[in-house]
Amino acid sequence: MISTLFKLRIQDSPKSKSYLKIIRIPFYPHPNSQEKLTSSNIETVLKQNHIFDNISLTSKPRIIKVSPKSDMAIVWLDIWDVQSGQNAKLLINRCFNVDNNIATIRGANMNLGVPQCKNCWKWGHSTFSCRIQGAKCIKCNGLHKSEHHREFSWCCKANTKINPPRLETKKGEPCPHTFKCSNCKGDHQADSNICPFWRHCFNREWHIKKYAKIHENRSQSIRSKGNDARKQ
Ligand SMILES: [Zn+2]
Ligand SMILES: [Zn+2]
Ligand SMILES: [Zn+2]
Ligand SMILES: [Zn+2]
Repeated sequence: MISTLFKLRIQDSPKSKSYLKIIRIPFYPHPNSQEKLTSSNIETVLKQNHIFDNISLTSKPRIIKVSPKSDMAIVWLDIWDVQSGQNAKLLINRCFNVDNNIATIRGANMNLGVPQCKNCWKWGHSTFSCRIQGAKCIKCNGLHKSEHHREFSWCCKANTKINPPRLETKKGEPCPHTFKCSNCKGDHQADSNICPFWRHCFNREWHIKKYAKIHENRSQSIRSKGNDARKQ
């Protein structure tokens, strides 16, 4: 009896990801407005629709316009699934309402987007193939796990030597300081959808070129620092 239960649980535990896309969904969801569809709009739509009740996403939904001149969007969803792909099978070809539109779910063979590592937050490799030894923080790019940001970041520690002195962030409170994206150095979390890396998440070429440029700049600045040190 126990062994049957155990087997069932193993079978039920999500092991793989399934890739879906939603079509026939408006890119500009608000009437008379050029405001674009966002991944949080999609998350709200999914929460309101019971067909998604037992579904959990592995990453934020990704949205692209069907074509540059279209007013419709395609939304890519990566969901946690069991090896048989049962969750995806239950959703494929289902329709649901988004305001006055009837959106349809289709299967997608694979994730066409560039993956973002959930360990170091760099784009272009998956969490499983991350090569750094520790972990990086999604908020400050520090060498600690994101959930330990308060304890390990410099910004949330008390500092009486500065003016005005900084108080320690209280336990359970979110970090009120400015974040630093590890990829673009902007003041947002590394997985923010305002990040240019996020906005180009379907453009592998853009990512490759951008990282090449970053590496080039970094080695140039290391070289010039070396020259300065020699001169002194
Ligand atoms: Zn990584
Ligand atoms: Zn941190
Ligand atoms: Zn902080
Ligand atoms: Zn960024």
